[in-house]
Amino acid sequence: MTGHWKRFIGVALAGFLASCTPQNSGPKLFVMDCGSMTLENIAGFGLTNDDTPVRKLFVPCYLVQHKGKTMLWEAGLPLDVVGAGKVDLAALPGTYLEYDVSLVDQLATMDITPADVDYIALSHLHFDHIGAANLFAGSTWLVQRSEYEVAFGDTANPAFVPQYYSALENAETQVLDGDHDVFGDGKVRLISLPGHTPGHMALALDMQETGKLVLSGDLYHFKMSRELKSVPVFNHDAADTHSSMDKLETLLAETGASLWIEHDMEFARTLRKAPDFYR
Ligand SMILES: [Zn+2]
Repeated sequence: MTGHWKRFIGVALAGFLASCTPQNSGPKLFVMDCGSMTLENIAGFGLTNDDTPVRKLFVPCYLVQHKGKTMLWEAGLPLDVVGAGKVDLAALPGTYLEYDVSLVDQLATMDITPADVDYIALSHLHFDHIGAANLFAGSTWLVQRSEYEVAFGDTANPAFVPQYYSALENAETQVLDGDHDVFGDGKVRLISLPGHTPGHMALALDMQETGKLVLSGDLYHFKMSRELKSVPVFNHDAADTHSSMDKLETLLAETGASLWIEHDMEFARTLRKAPDFYR
């Protein structure tokens, strides 16, 4: 065998082995801080102020990388809150928002721009999950049909703020009717959990080191919401919410997945933030 061929086989073999190494076989998850919401009164979440002392909610964004592609999950608070200090939420007296470093600047620490993101998926279209959504109109939007129909249909949902997601109407869109396996290998799945909004979803990940994990969307806002199975007064449908809680709890029990309650500030403080990541 000539040296040339030996070298060729060596390089090919190294490439093959690299593609087989475990650290390349699962998704990576980056956690970003896309703001916070502080409330005086949590009665709107179907809890009393005595049920929990928690008054501050984390607002996350996440980036998932898998099979050479990227997906944004959640788009955070509106970008006009960035750097503005405490911004009162007019619609909810006694509530203020804070957001220090924009999602775009956090992506930049990973050398990623919105144009590099292949897919955008949002648990639902409430204002604290869609803030930067308009910047991702070049991505493919993965959305439940029931959420899409409310977003752009005739019956406007008063809890939706179209100005923050209107550009997605022009995005390439994959309309979903139920659970969806994003990359076709079962490692990144959108789980249909309607109730909070008509097409609310969670994200289930199967990761090499972290294991199985579900990001809750807004199925639960507080740890106590899960314990008490409390339904926020502003949910679209209480019965659907309870069915979705049953569906998710069954999934967690059957797969052994852990649940990350996205708005849980105490838990969020313990998480590694981008550009660090979970795999
Ligand atoms: Zn919500």
